[in-house]
Amino acid sequence: MKVTVLEKTEDTLKLRIENVRPGLMNALRRIIIAETPTMAIEEVVILENQSPIFDEIIAHRLGLVPLKTNYDQYVRPEECTCEGVGCHLCQAGFTMEVEAPEDGYIATTGDLKPQDPETIPISDKIPIAKLAKGQRIVAEAYARLGIGQDHAKWQPVSTMAYKMIPSVKVDTGKCYGCKECVTACFRKVFKMQNEKAVVVDELNCTLCNLCVETCDVKAITVTYDENSFFVTIESTGALPPEKIMEKSFDVIRKKYEELISLLPGRAPPLKKVPAKKKAPAKKKAPAKKKAKTTKTKASSKPKKKKSK
Ligand code: SF4
Ligand code: SF4
Ligand SMILES: [Zn+2]
Repeated sequence: MKVTVLEKTEDTLKLRIENVRPGLMNALRRIIIAETPTMAIEEVVILENQSPIFDEIIAHRLGLVPLKTNYDQYVRPEECTCEGVGCHLCQAGFTMEVEAPEDGYIATTGDLKPQDPETIPISDKIPIAKLAKGQRIVAEAYARLGIGQDHAKWQPVSTMAYKMIPSVKVDTGKCYGCKECVTACFRKVFKMQNEKAVVVDELNCTLCNLCVETCDVKAITVTYDENSFFVTIESTGALPPEKIMEKSFDVIRKKYEELISLLPGRAPPLKKVPAKKKAPAKKKAPAKKKAKTTKTKASSKPKKKKSK
């Protein structure tokens, strides 16, 4: 496999990956979208809500806020020694207490105060509710690691897409310079040069074949290499895109090891699994104040408010 970085920014990574089977490429795409864990708010306790928005909607909006994810700090609730009840090893708390100083004040993620300074919203400008003067919202929220397979709020990416690398050729012997392909190609792959069509941006081709159908002398050939891909990963901001790739390969490796261990007579020696972090015996998650309003519930679990 050969990987070339074409472009890298804080949230986006564009790669050219060669000599890889389409199956592996698709596995990577699906695992990044559905099985790479990130933090998201899962429980919300509404203590006071004078806004015109229902508690459930506020909880839903808070759940969709992308949070910076720190894998070193938290374990998934189902792997935690608290067995999913919620402790400082598997959940991060937030508080929100906002009173509108004027009509039209917009409560945002900037009003969400994190207990862990590393687990914070990716922006403090995401709107939560528009309030009239004097209206208040008081709430607590609890974020956990989860995966996109359970809810889209845990997806680490807004885009994970790939396409096979195209190859566009013009037979200049046949081309008589009618310009039809230049007009037909909405991706601006061609331009005219010396009365002939020439390829100027091959990677931009979407393999739609419009140019091939347009050219009446069959001067254009569009093909692709099915083992080479142009990959775009756009993070929600929860993790750097290269960290998302790294984590997704960990997930693939784990699946592969599990599969191998299930083959009769092929079981490799079991890897030593690092011991789970121990939760302190008596240290509890921050006490939740008694809610004045009804708890927001969106799941069948009793006493839990879901942000879904
Ligand atoms: S459509 Fe065919 S003939 Fe016309 S400019 Fe393009 S390649 Fe040449
Ligand atoms: S296949 Fe489609 S996108 Fe590609 S060069 Fe032809 S018209 Fe443009
Ligand atoms: Zn826990």
